[in-house]
Amino acid sequence: SLLLENLSMSFGAKTVLREVNLDVRPGQFVALVGPSGAGKSTLLRLINGSHSPTGGSVTVLGVNPATCGRKNLRKLRTRVGFVFQQFGLVGRLSAMENVLMGTLGSLKMPRYGISTYPRPLREKAVANLERVGLADQRFQRCDTLSGGQQQRVAIARTLMQDARIVLADEPVASLDPSASLSVLNTLKKVSAEDGFTVICSLHQVDLALQVSDRVVAVRDGSLILDTPTPDTSEAAVRAIYEKAKGRTA
Ligand code: ATP
Ligand code: MG
Repeated sequence: SLLLENLSMSFGAKTVLREVNLDVRPGQFVALVGPSGAGKSTLLRLINGSHSPTGGSVTVLGVNPATCGRKNLRKLRTRVGFVFQQFGLVGRLSAMENVLMGTLGSLKMPRYGISTYPRPLREKAVANLERVGLADQRFQRCDTLSGGQQQRVAIARTLMQDARIVLADEPVASLDPSASLSVLNTLKKVSAEDGFTVICSLHQVDLALQVSDRVVAVRDGSLILDTPTPDTSEAAVRAIYEKAKGRTA
């Protein structure tokens, strides 16, 4: 669902990405790790078509966002969700209103209240809030929710799009470790349920290892590591243990 071929990006004389190659199959959860300034956000912006590369190409859901034209780019973006570090919610509106916002196309604000949204949309919004564990908080103002809850509202909002790929740029950077894990596990769960691809940049390698299928590390604009995440589940560890026992018996 995502293919990066010799992808390079420079801003003036500054090279930010160098010949990046990456092939991500549908449904994979990829963690993108690397120090500040490595090029993670730039990479996500290239995938989303916010930047055009200075070399190589991006193919996302079969489309090259840099060359597909304005109309196709708009269409592509309906299939590509984005989750930001700053949740991007309207604090004075409820979780439900934030989730519904934008679902009517041009009408961005629920100016006339939730009841103006068609019933199927409202039901879908409730179902998505339920999926992220926030059904009970749906009428609560977003600025009274915890950071982790707010980011889960943002995930529910993205789910309204039925995106096939979700790009998350440090979605847990401002959260404490336990809220971070809960948000990432929520994203992992809903992506597995719907089968969409996730590319998620993270600062913490330990979190990346816990939630992703694959860890890709960037440094100075180059991919320096690309590895499947080892299965450290209890069942997998037990299987290795049993195998080792068998061998020594
Ligand atoms: P962080 O972990 O701090 O978010 P990052 O890995 O996301 O870092 P990027 O934001 O992709 O890093 O930036 C990579 C480099 O590209 C940085 O040196 C940054 O200054 C530079 N850069 C990014 N966007 C632009 C731009 N629009 N113009 C000029 N330089 C830019
Ligand atoms: Mg960044």
